[in-house]
Amino acid sequence: MESKDCHTLFDQYVMPTYGRFPLTFERGEGHYLWDTQQQRYLDMGGGIAVNILGHAHPALREVLCDQAGKLWHCSNLYHHRGQGQLAEELVSRIGSGKVFFSNSGAEANEGLFKLARRYGHEQGRHEIITFTQSFHGRTLGGIAATGQMKVKEGFGPMTPGFVHAEFNDLNSVKQRISPSTVAIMLEGIQGEGGIRPATEVFLKGLRQLCQEHDLLLLWDGVQCGHYRTGHFQSYQSILKEASSDVNFMPDAIAMAKSLGGGFPIGAFWVRQQHASLLGPGSHGTTYGGNPLACAVALKILHIIEQEGLADQARKMGDALRKGLTELKESYEDYIEDIRGMGLMLGLVLREDSPLAKKSEGPVSLNAVKRLHDHGLLTIPSGTQVIRLLPALNIQEAEVSMTLSIIQKALKNI
Ligand SMILES: *Cc1c(COP(=O)(O)O)cnc(C)c1O
Repeated sequence: MESKDCHTLFDQYVMPTYGRFPLTFERGEGHYLWDTQQQRYLDMGGGIAVNILGHAHPALREVLCDQAGKLWHCSNLYHHRGQGQLAEELVSRIGSGKVFFSNSGAEANEGLFKLARRYGHEQGRHEIITFTQSFHGRTLGGIAATGQMKVKEGFGPMTPGFVHAEFNDLNSVKQRISPSTVAIMLEGIQGEGGIRPATEVFLKGLRQLCQEHDLLLLWDGVQCGHYRTGHFQSYQSILKEASSDVNFMPDAIAMAKSLGGGFPIGAFWVRQQHASLLGPGSHGTTYGGNPLACAVALKILHIIEQEGLADQARKMGDALRKGLTELKESYEDYIEDIRGMGLMLGLVLREDSPLAKKSEGPVSLNAVKRLHDHGLLTIPSGTQVIRLLPALNIQEAEVSMTLSIIQKALKNI
């Protein structure tokens, strides 16, 4: 089908909830995507931190096809091997506890909200503190939790029980703790909010506050998790220098995005002592942890381990950051900052730059479109930031191609 026909179909029949770029993709392989004109793009957006092993990875194709010949779905009324094995693998990477499987990040977070409400129920506590610039999904609970007005507008009244504090500001958190507070929830690196990492001091302080006030510490690892920062969860990267007596461990962790590498699946892990809060009949979903999704997710974890991709993420992340920092030095009129960790990096553009003056909309969108013209896919974040969230198995070739394309685009402004 011609791409024009495809755009017409979208215009007529698909809800206009996304600002879609005028690109139509047909095929992916490794770190590249091809559009309907057979134009090749280097994918450094990774489908928003999803395609953790790139596109059409041969081993994932094989495991998915193999599972498709055995069992697709049997419902959560029964057991199947893959779900138990995947839960074991996730627990072994975090700590003693149990896992619930969902289909998306928003659903994983909904599970955390319900867990927190159950925890505080008997004492009449229900309030969850989240952070400004955060993003926790598009369900009614998710938008109430999210600290950005743009996701809430026109959907009021908001689900009660969420208050927002300033990120990386412990005093602001302290001021919002009330007799109703039951939990604090955060992303280790705010993704949609512009690639803002939490500081080590902040994380340790939050842990302390949770201890003092008997609050659950809820971790949204949907975007920053799954080895993207070089460790399974980003708190392990943020606290890596910390002395070993610091036991930060969250009480619950939401996962999705990279977990299935493109096959939809989400999950949340709960610390052992709270793992029975959600008992039989208290929570559920039809598809969660289905055999196809679990087979793919398990294989992804094995490949990451076998190929040392946590180290690769750290190494390639460092190389990319070094290159971007050099670009920042040469193009200071355009680039304000480089933020992030590992392969979760944000290029912060100046809002007073010559590019911003030429932009009709946000400078981030303008930059992303210009990079499309040079065959590079990146993800805008807010008005000012472009995000790089590539597969963890990128190589030096992809790093240097990314840097040279960004440089070329800057030169051409
Ligand atoms: C993407 C994202 C979500 C929502 O995940 P979906 O799978 O889109 O529902 C939640 N939290 C964070 C931090 C995210 O980046």
